[in-house]
Amino acid sequence: NRYITIKNNIDGVPQHSDFELKAADFVLSLQPGSKDVIVKNLYMSVDPYQINRMKSYSSTQTTTSFGYANAIHPGEAIEAYGLGKVVASGNPDFQKDDLVVGFLSWGEYCVIKPGGMLSKLDPLGFPLSNHVGTLGIAGLTAYAGFFKVCKPKKGEKVFVSAASGAVGNMVGQYAKLFGCYVVGCAGTKEKVVLLKEKLGFDDAFNYKEETDLKSTLERYFPDGIDIYFDNVGGEMQEAAVDRMNIFGRVAVCGVISQYTDEKIQATPNMVDVVYKRITIQGFLAGDYLNLFPEFVSRTSDHLRAGKIQSLEDIYDGVENIPSAFISLFQGKNVGKIIVRVAKD
Ligand code: NDP
Repeated sequence: NRYITIKNNIDGVPQHSDFELKAADFVLSLQPGSKDVIVKNLYMSVDPYQINRMKSYSSTQTTTSFGYANAIHPGEAIEAYGLGKVVASGNPDFQKDDLVVGFLSWGEYCVIKPGGMLSKLDPLGFPLSNHVGTLGIAGLTAYAGFFKVCKPKKGEKVFVSAASGAVGNMVGQYAKLFGCYVVGCAGTKEKVVLLKEKLGFDDAFNYKEETDLKSTLERYFPDGIDIYFDNVGGEMQEAAVDRMNIFGRVAVCGVISQYTDEKIQATPNMVDVVYKRITIQGFLAGDYLNLFPEFVSRTSDHLRAGKIQSLEDIYDGVENIPSAFISLFQGKNVGKIIVRVAKD
């Protein structure tokens, strides 16, 4: 079994030298009486939040400082969302050859212990990779964050950062379908073209070409912002709050600019927050797992009708997981990054 691990904790921007590919003997059958499930990993997710699990924690500390997920220690297999096929099962809920999604690992095979997050998957006629991105946790994050946290009204003005990424592109597409005015920002010219021409955003800009984000947002939102879907934090969050309308909502989905640079000082002006009665709410997709059936049903209808595009950026091979992960922090990806570990 080949798998990826970290060589050391990572407290800044991840580099190739932080990771290694290891190989270990792996038995593809279970001991009698075992309740485990052995899964062959097919499509694995790489996600920005994983960097927060890789930071320096003491070797005895099992949770991260934010308590949300276990700390990842050097040498260990790295747990991650993904899709796989059951090789052997001692759990009556799963049979050999079942397709499953859940918390697998960055490797070729994994063992899911009783209580691990695993569910059977009906691919509904879609490519398997879609169930790691558009119809997976990234899509659910966009769906729950936009509809439940942002509580949109038709015609409202929506701003999305990291708009060509896995979550951001879906937020923009949901917001357009819902009847909002949507502007996205991203880090290259090509991404801006894609947002406007392929994904139907009303407008988009390259934030790396802007020198004063507050005046940029004034240009794109002369009547103010009603909803800011924040994927990046930092200076963009500060500028967006400055431009919010009264009773505006900020859904803080992630703060990727701060994951690798905890010194970032930019912070929203709280006087604005008070007088404009702005709601700023962090959220986790995991709080909305009950929405999964509704989200999959609505999103798959939109996909079939061609009203939502599935944007994927696929890497091949377990050995390329580090490159895929690192590219998230370099802004190289367009849409959901997925690593195809095996075809089936
Ligand atoms: P993306 O596919 O959006 O990839 C990350 C993108 O972020 C990059 O492509 C890059 O695009 C942008 N980026 C990278 N570094 C910076 C930086 N320093 N400043 C500004 N932008 C940067 O990833 P996801 O869609 O998976 O995740 C987006 C956000 O949502 C992350 O913050 C993530 O942690 C969060 N998230 C939260 C979840 C939750 O439950 N709350 C669940 C899933 C994700 P660009 O070209 O725009 O620079």
